[in-house]
Amino acid sequence: MDNQHASPCPDTLTELRERTRAFARERDWEQFHTPKNLAMALSVEVAELAEHFQWLRTGADDELDDAKRAGIRHELADVLLYLVQLADRTGVDLRAAALEKIALNAAKYPADRVRGDARKSTQY
Ligand SMILES: [Mg+2]
Repeated sequence: MDNQHASPCPDTLTELRERTRAFARERDWEQFHTPKNLAMALSVEVAELAEHFQWLRTGADDELDDAKRAGIRHELADVLLYLVQLADRTGVDLRAAALEKIALNAAKYPADRVRGDARKSTQY
């Protein structure tokens, strides 16, 4: 089976964390990577990602060209890398936090109750 599209292994985020630590350390940039600065940088990267979809009808693949796809790929990477760094600086195990949140969302939005309904839990 093609492993390229399999779920990330548990070590993937750890590897990215180590690579971002080394990248910052080699440049003496750790001093700038406060939680506040990383949160702001993350927010900027999310906006840069959203900009690629701005004014498109849906952002589906048929509306994108290769340059746009590359831009989206790079902004997604920027978002992930700042997210990993922010989690590192705040002591959050991202994988555990994500699994915890999926479980919380499953309890908040039971499938048999919300199937096909996009409203927030406070709207029904
Ligand atoms: Mg960017």
